[in-house]
Amino acid sequence: MASTICGWCGDRTHMTMIQSPYLAPVHNKEYTYTAPFKCSNESCERLSVGSVTRATQYGNPNAEFVRDELEWDPVALRRPEFPDVPEQIAATASEAHACISIQAYRGAVALARAVVEATAKDHGITKGPLVAKIDEMHKQNLIRDITRELAHEVREGGNEIAHGDLADEPMPPEDAEAIVALMDEILEEVYQGPARMMALKKSRLEREQRNAARKSGS
Ligand SMILES: [Zn+2]
Repeated sequence: MASTICGWCGDRTHMTMIQSPYLAPVHNKEYTYTAPFKCSNESCERLSVGSVTRATQYGNPNAEFVRDELEWDPVALRRPEFPDVPEQIAATASEAHACISIQAYRGAVALARAVVEATAKDHGITKGPLVAKIDEMHKQNLIRDITRELAHEVREGGNEIAHGDLADEPMPPEDAEAIVALMDEILEEVYQGPARMMALKKSRLEREQRNAARKSGS
């Protein structure tokens, strides 16, 4: 049985093969097998196609295929929500993650960079290159030391967070993932952490007011 994140419902589920793998016409001595699978999530049960291309033929396709490293169609798109982040910035951040899930790494980096730019602008920081803006966010206590260092580390590693030459450079997946993770960290510190703190504070104040009202009423 194969396990993957279902491209329809987004759950990590077991996929049950419902028909034997089909061997496509052989090209360049490569064997491509394809089969339909059913999602085991009861509220989904939609079909996905699993396939693999390999250099040798299976001895026992039914048994070996499901244990192989399969490619899935549709793929699961990751689109996380950022409820405490301004709407347009949140939508852009979500798209950066969607790009990662379809291996569109340059797209992911371009969007992550735009998110950090917009976050700085949202706090009145508009001058200089992106790294200078990150430094300024740090100076204004919007982000922690460690996040600023992380930004510089990412920059030392590949420079892509600062440069505009995305179409000129290789973009390894781990670099793109590091840059999107940095974006997440900045959103967490600038918007989401403070929003959680305010919510806690609000509920504490409301509780105190209720208690005070009860005391004065008794
Ligand atoms: Zn499903």
